Amino acid sequence: MKIIHTDVIIQNIKEMCIEANYNLSQDMEKAVRNSIKTERSNIGRQILEQLDENMRIAKADHIPICQDTGMAIVFIKIGQDVHIEGINLNDAINEGIREGYEEGYLRKSVVGDPLIRVNTKDNTPGILHYEIVPGTNIEITIAPKGFGSENMSRVYMLKPSDGVEGVKKAVLETVSLAGPNACPPMVIGVGIGGSFEKCTILAKKALIRNIENHSELEHIKQLEIELLEEINKSGIGPGGLGGKITALGINIETYPTHIAGLPVAVNICCHVNRHVTRVL
Ligand code: SF4
Repeated sequence: MKIIHTDVIIQNIKEMCIEANYNLSQDMEKAVRNSIKTERSNIGRQILEQLDENMRIAKADHIPICQDTGMAIVFIKIGQDVHIEGINLNDAINEGIREGYEEGYLRKSVVGDPLIRVNTKDNTPGILHYEIVPGTNIEITIAPKGFGSENMSRVYMLKPSDGVEGVKKAVLETVSLAGPNACPPMVIGVGIGGSFEKCTILAKKALIRNIENHSELEHIKQLEIELLEEINKSGIGPGGLGGKITALGINIETYPTHIAGLPVAVNICCHVNRHVTRVL
């Protein structure tokens, strides 16, 4: 059994909130840079070059890539042979977020009550997703999520007879409705199967998968390839000003579902698809 103290968790989460907001992951950086070579529209290319320059400045000057530094989404995989010492784990995670957003000069974007809408002034609480896994490690992923793109996401409770064509229609409709509001080029996370809530978590998880890696399931890999091609024929383009590169990638995650349903969630992210993972 391994003992992990919550002080270690707080410190790591603090650093990860800052790191995620200043640096995009290598696959995302590469995707933006490569897209400059394939974009055919002049204005589209100019926008992609500006996004690339913006990323470089953020990294070099230690400043956020975007003014919307997001709500902290946290995925925590806890090895079942880990013992956590110290304070309550939820409190520790939120303390890490609090310290990270304070030290990193990151915008505090969370309101305490969704209707009364008073800012909590420390970007807490985060959204925490726990999973128990075998082993003696804790794997933490922090994915600060901007809401320009989050607001353009959708859930569809399709019928089984809608099939794969229904899934494609749902994804293409969501992207088309998102248009320029999601700060394209987008990254699209899709969850298929499970239940109403499970498919949305799958879609969020899909966003944090490396966009260079396709699904291991052959039919889902083909669907990812086909949908990305279709999305990039939409003409929305970088910044919504027209062009080929509407999306940099689409990742799909699946889960078994009920005989009577076909839940589909489409979680839209912008090009600032932030996520950092550490294993303690
Ligand atoms: S959608 Fe993305 S790029 Fe646009 S404001 Fe939000 S975080 Fe920034």
